[in-house]
Formats: sequence, C-alpha cells, structure tokens
Amino acid sequence: MMEVFQTGWKRRFGLLHGAMQTLRTLKALEREGLVTADPRLVEAAQSMAIALTPEMLALIDRTDPAHDPIARQFVPSARETEVSADELADPIGDDARSPVKGIVHRYPDRVLLKPLHVCPVYCRFCFRREKVGPGGEALSAAELEAALAYIRARPEIWEVILTGGDPLMLAPRRMARLIAELDAIAHVGVIRIHSRVPIVDPQRVTDELLASLRPQRAALWLAVHCNHARELGTAARGALSRLADRGIPLMGQTVLLAGVNDDVETLDELMRALVTARVKPYYLHHPDLVRGTGHFRVSIEAGQALMKALRGRLSGLAQPTYVLDVPGGHGKVPIGPAYLGDDPSALVIEDAFGGQHRYPA
Ligand code: SF4
Repeated sequence: MMEVFQTGWKRRFGLLHGAMQTLRTLKALEREGLVTADPRLVEAAQSMAIALTPEMLALIDRTDPAHDPIARQFVPSARETEVSADELADPIGDDARSPVKGIVHRYPDRVLLKPLHVCPVYCRFCFRREKVGPGGEALSAAELEAALAYIRARPEIWEVILTGGDPLMLAPRRMARLIAELDAIAHVGVIRIHSRVPIVDPQRVTDELLASLRPQRAALWLAVHCNHARELGTAARGALSRLADRGIPLMGQTVLLAGVNDDVETLDELMRALVTARVKPYYLHHPDLVRGTGHFRVSIEAGQALMKALRGRLSGLAQPTYVLDVPGGHGKVPIGPAYLGDDPSALVIEDAFGGQHRYPA
C-alpha cells in the first residue's frame, strides 16, 4: 500500500473513463435546458461540485426539469443558498468521531473507512456535501496505511464500511489491493461498501471491478444508494445483476427527500423495484441537517406516516428501517412509527391497517 496514492486524481480514480460525458458545469446544464442563468445558482455551484452522468441525464423529463425527481437530486437549486441556523457543516458528526484521518469510529465493532471523496454524481442533499468533490481531500498512501494500522490494532473491529465519496470510484487495481489489505486482518469479518456507482454509472461495474471485489476470507456486502424507481433502468439493473450473480449480497439505502420520493406510491414502487433487482431495502434515511438543504427536508411525523402506510402495502422483504443520524456523531436510531400503546398494563396494538387490538400484558 506504499505506492503513492495521490498522484493525479483523475487517473487515480479512473475518472477518465466516461468522464467526458458527465455534465460538470452550470453552462453544460444550461445547454441541456436544465437551468437558466441565475446568480444564486453560481453561488450554489460554488458550494458543491456538479456531476450528472449520462445515465441520470437520460432519465430526466425535459418537459418539466424543475419538478423532476432525478434532476432535483443532481441539478443545483438557488435554494441551496438559503442556510438556516440549525443546519450544520458536519451534520452527522464525522469529525467528532475521527481518531485517525479517513476513519470514523462510532460503534465499538465497526468503523467507516473513507479512502476518497470523489463521486460519479454529486447529490445536492449529500450529508458530506462540504467534503465531497474533485480535489476534495483523499488519503495519501501514508494516511491509508495509518488508517489500516488503526484497524489492525483493534481486534474489536469486526466490520469495515468503505464509504467516502464513492469507493467504487477507485480504479479496480486499487480496490483489489484495499480489499486484500482488509481481508488480511483476521478480526475483520465483514467489508461493506456503500456506493451510488451501480445505479448512476453502471458501466463502471466491469469484469475487472467485479474481480476486485473478491476477498478470500471476509464477507463482502454492498449497499447501493437509490432514491427513485426510475433510477433502476436497464443498465442499472444489469449492473446489480452482475454483482448479485457474483454472490455479493446487496442492500438498498434511500434518503427520504421532499419532491423526490416523499409520497407513499413513489416509495412503494421504489422498494418493490429494489427487491425485484435483488436488493434488500435496508435504510430509509431521514434527511440530515445539511446546510442549504431545507428544500429537501421532510418532517419526522410525515416520515413516520409514510412508514405506516408502507407497512400495510409491502411485504416485509421490501420494508426499510426508517433511521435518523443523531447530530453530533451519536449514530443512527430507528425512528419509525410505534404500534404499541403507552399503557403497559393494558397493551393496545395497532395493526398495519390502523385497527386497535388488546394484547395480554
Ligand atoms: S454519491 Fe453519496 S457521497 Fe457522493 S454526493 Fe451522493 S450522497 Fe454524497
């Protein structure tokens, strides 16, 4: 792992592949009819990089991009310039729980390892929007070695979660080496990768990349980030199939976003689409208190009502857990609706359709 890790970020992360077609400027978005000139958009674009892949561009309804759930996720909005007092630069407290650069250690048995901060797309609601982007800090070879040494020295670490940025932006050769390094740590039982790549840039899921995701000993899981059923087009489904056919268990994580998926029909369709793509819905994230993202935020009450509605409509296989990342780095807690009444001496249980039933205490 001592090879220089930080020599030309485009070559390092394989960004030359397909990069010419990804839209990366306001001008490019304007040419596609997705934005019109507005000084506040310039300010929004300065606060976070732009990237919209051809696959996502092709899914946008050009007749009404302002209300399109795909465009809304990746095209800057003037509303990003509106920052409220309770919004935070580091909304889930990564920095407070980072003992070594690139590591976040919130729970005794698992750590996040963030080898890079580039992504195939830049999601305007991202909880790390102030960290991700081309040129954003990435681990040097020495820093990566120090992060691995931190994991090696702590036998209680059972799971390593590769996140970023998007770890699947690593060139396959580098990914293979990183997986091999983690696989060589006997107490690491699980390597989990969180990625948007199979959905938003499915051509990156090549045989070479698949071959890199082959630890000899540890289990490897992949959590894909997907917020709307429309994202699961033919190419994305193909990429997920290639991963599943290699025996990689797939989980889905979705962010609850106003104007994207905050209605029961959209969530129902998404969860079913994930399951039929062999992806088990894992988390429905309550949107974090990210600066400039108030236009994406949904109330917890509304989120609970949506979860309740899904309970009556969807198989357990398609039910995600609704979670909130507690600001300050205190981790995730489930915040789904309750089905038990408050009085322990006279338990009243609500069924999935709103019926009330007594149960012996
Ligand atoms: S791909 Fe993930 S890390 Fe990258 S911008 Fe989107 S949400 Fe953030």
